[in-house]
Amino acid sequence: KIVVLDGYTENPGDLSWESLEALGTLTVYDRTPGDKVIERIADAQAVYTNKTPITGETIEKCANMKFIGVLATGYNVIDIKAARSANVVVSNIPSYGTDAVAQYAVALLLELCHHIGEHSDCVKAGEWSRSRDWCFWKHPLVELAGKTFGVIGFGRIGQRTAKIAEALGMKIVAYDERPVKELEGENFRYVSLDELLSMSDVISLHCPLFPSTEGIINKDTIAKMKDGVKIINTSRGPLIVEQDLRQALDSGKVSGAAVDVVSEEPIREDNPLLGAKNSIITPHIAWAPRESRQRLMNIAVSNLKAFMEG
Ligand code: NAD
Repeated sequence: KIVVLDGYTENPGDLSWESLEALGTLTVYDRTPGDKVIERIADAQAVYTNKTPITGETIEKCANMKFIGVLATGYNVIDIKAARSANVVVSNIPSYGTDAVAQYAVALLLELCHHIGEHSDCVKAGEWSRSRDWCFWKHPLVELAGKTFGVIGFGRIGQRTAKIAEALGMKIVAYDERPVKELEGENFRYVSLDELLSMSDVISLHCPLFPSTEGIINKDTIAKMKDGVKIINTSRGPLIVEQDLRQALDSGKVSGAAVDVVSEEPIREDNPLLGAKNSIITPHIAWAPRESRQRLMNIAVSNLKAFMEG
């Protein structure tokens, strides 16, 4: 028995779960609220989740469960320790969205540098001249060539994002817990976190959410950044202490921030970033082009097949 807890099925005509049906009796829920998880998966052997947390208590109570497939790269929604001790195999899908997320991170950066949406809205509202004036003072355009792009977490997505930033003429530096020295070259080197903070014009977050990375962007690390730095987060919301970022946006220390992820999703009404100037917030969609979702689906199925084949 296979259960998909949050298959986002409400969009008719989108990808189908047919390929999983061949592997067992399949039930796909669009979304599952926290208090319904145990009831829905109690007799399932294989469970898929995208964002629905599977806690230690759930793992303990669902003794039939042998396999959890995380339909995502980051597996912070699973209590891994509890899964390991209950002998439940957990698989994630590390590389399905590398291109999509890297492309999105750069799109966010370009939007911060150009305010294309706002200029276009102005023109459509009949304000051609005002929009042109604004590009000199209210929404100034920024050229990226020659500036420094700092990557925190130089893994798959961080490296791909850096490649695109490099093509825009940027110099690349990265901080990573496990540097791969062979990657260094003329336009790229690893630096310490403090060095990265002090030399980057743009800081892009690509490390996973671990206790060691939670709140890595906070008032102390922001104080070490260049005045007018821009911050991009396509990784996980809790990497940023949002109240501290809000203050830095208000003061102008951070000239722009664009995030695809926030501390609590869906976003709370009192999230401090909602009212911040010079900020862009999108609803955790960097991963979602059809091409990458199809890849995700294929890998999800082959992971379960591999598990069933031992
Ligand atoms: P990856 O494992 O290839 O890279 C992560 C890198 O972070 C590794 O090089 C690792 O050494 C480094 N790292 C780990 N701990 C660190 C620490 N304490 N300090 C500095 N660096 C550290 O992962 P990836 O495929 O590049 O994905 C990165 C993250 O992107 C995922 O964890 C996930 O949270 C996020 N993501 C977001 C979306 C989205 O839709 N917004 C989609 C996919 C992935």
